[in-house]
Amino acid sequence: MSNEKNLSVQALARKNVQELTPYQSARRLGGNGDVWLNANEYAIAPNFELTQQTFNRYPECQPARVINRYAAYAGVDPEQVLVSRGADEGIELLIRAFCEPGKDAILYCPPTYGMYSVSAETIGVEGRTVPAKADWSLDLPAIEAALDGVKLVYVCSPNNPTGNIIDPDEIRAVLEMTRGRAIVAVDEAYIEFCPQASVSGWLQEYPHLTILRTLSKAFALAGLRCGFTLANSEVIGLLMKVIAPYPISTPVADIAAQALSPEGLALMRQRVAEVTENRVWLLEELEKCACVEAVFASDTNYVLARFTASSAAFKNLWDQGIILRDQNKQPGLSGCLRITIGTREELRRVITALQALPGAAAASINEKQNSPRKEHM
Ligand code: PMP
Repeated sequence: MSNEKNLSVQALARKNVQELTPYQSARRLGGNGDVWLNANEYAIAPNFELTQQTFNRYPECQPARVINRYAAYAGVDPEQVLVSRGADEGIELLIRAFCEPGKDAILYCPPTYGMYSVSAETIGVEGRTVPAKADWSLDLPAIEAALDGVKLVYVCSPNNPTGNIIDPDEIRAVLEMTRGRAIVAVDEAYIEFCPQASVSGWLQEYPHLTILRTLSKAFALAGLRCGFTLANSEVIGLLMKVIAPYPISTPVADIAAQALSPEGLALMRQRVAEVTENRVWLLEELEKCACVEAVFASDTNYVLARFTASSAAFKNLWDQGIILRDQNKQPGLSGCLRITIGTREELRRVITALQALPGAAAASINEKQNSPRKEHM
């Protein structure tokens, strides 16, 4: 028998796919909870009804109503908007359009969102990291020194999972150092929780700026799978070359257009106000828990906290049906768990469960007072 006949299916796969660790999405991780606080979703389902019933025809590749409404909402031209299957597809399209597999690199600054590295690995593009500084600001000299061969820089602001906004001056510095060399993708998945921090007004100044957005967070539509890339029309044109012929199904376009109507936007802003109130409450309550060493300020719909015994805390809550996100393995985040802002009732359950856990008394009080990240609190 020839060697080829003995090849296992595993061995047939591309080498980088054989070696790939897939993204551990909240749904893949499973759990038997009734309080789901591990995917930064909104806790309550909004109501929608389909208004379009024409499913025998293919949809528009870029449904005009959705594009026009998103452009008006974001304050950009319709030519500067691309709609895709979630922001995750936007992350991947950028790599496919700009990075040569086996040659070019992307750059990102951990701790941050996991899909930049997974998408790069899947496509066979090097994922280069420049860790954020201790206060989670960007290490600008280190980024500049690492730019050789980099075609795409991802900056997540506000950052997942740390919750902090990246200083716009730092983003500007990255845009200046990459001019004519690389695309900069600012991931604004959570920008509705701090709209003043958006860099969408900078598109005219920077031909290489792209911005990732989503309806999954403040718009409460994670199940819809609808996201946006904002960029100058030249970049959008390149992304249009590599996007699937019909990325957005007819029902998705229908509901997305409703979510972006004036009423939809008003509801989104109400949600943001409610989430913000609940986040302030959760932060205050977490600071009082003995098992919590440090709580980090957040401009998003989640909060990161460091625990005296995070694995035990995670498991204890898991066993009670309260599912959080373990961030312990991320660089610089040992002992950290991320908690999505759910309803007040859900957050009360979290606090009640945490209050029952022991702390490392004196040491933890000390740490709370002297935390190097106190400025984030
Ligand atoms: N970027 C960040 C920072 C995220 O947290 C997420 C969602 N987890 C995404 C992008 C992807 O969002 P979407 O649901 O639109 O694919």
